[in-house]
Amino acid sequence: MTSFYGKSVLVLGGSRGIGAAIVRRFASDGAKVVFSYLSSPDEAQVLAAETGSEALRVDSADRDALIALIASLGPLDVLVVNSGILGAGDPLNMPPDDIDRLFRINIHAPYHAAVAAARTMPDGGRIIFIGSANADRMPMAGLAAYSASKSALKGMTKGLARDFGARGITVNVIQPGPTDTDMNPAGGPLKDVMHGFMAIKRHAKGEEIAGLVAYLAGPEAGIITGAAYNIDGGFTA
Ligand code: NDP
Repeated sequence: MTSFYGKSVLVLGGSRGIGAAIVRRFASDGAKVVFSYLSSPDEAQVLAAETGSEALRVDSADRDALIALIASLGPLDVLVVNSGILGAGDPLNMPPDDIDRLFRINIHAPYHAAVAAARTMPDGGRIIFIGSANADRMPMAGLAAYSASKSALKGMTKGLARDFGARGITVNVIQPGPTDTDMNPAGGPLKDVMHGFMAIKRHAKGEEIAGLVAYLAGPEAGIITGAAYNIDGGFTA
């Protein structure tokens, strides 16, 4: 287990699911953790009390608020952009405003947050995006905007890795497959369909995703940048 004692970590979207597992992991490894949330104040406060972290309500879709939050925190050693939403349905019937909001949260927020963090991030810092295996494989209808948003993170990761590499700052994207959260419960109606695409036929646990985040944030991963990591039970194999 890596010690993050004395490290300053921001997790965008940390109140529930994968983000909450990431908050717990960094807090238990000694980091000073701040996380953002939007619609789940009760879960956020319980998690903050449990982990000794700080919860701040900031909508990732609000670019200026997001940049102001990051500027207010001072230098971050690690930024994890986990906040993301799923929009599923027939594209002919999906409201354009909903699609634009999805793109703001899933694409614009990671970009602006990464750039804002990099302004003051010390050499050797870490920027980690939570993407999706759907960037590489989209075997179902109704998720074009979502998969497009997660594919965008791959290009963003490669470009920002070049931009910040001279400072030893790494930029990587983790691409989970089905993971047991409110967004995609292990007992949900599509579980058998999703497991049919996988070599290991179960949902991942948030802790398993958090373990890869911790590895990429740690000292052994200093040469890994511009990379996309599928952690998906073989969904993309
Ligand atoms: P959940 O819906 O369970 O949790 C989403 C988290 O993001 C919550 O903490 C939520 O906070 C926060 N969030 C969402 N929108 C905003 C916003 N506008 N501003 C601030 N915080 C926000 O999702 P998961 O944990 O399942 O997903 C986390 C990430 O992992 C997402 O990027 C998702 O796309 C990705 N992913 C998930 C997979 C899965 O199978 N679960 C598979 C592949 C990728 P709050 O409730 O307070 O609004």
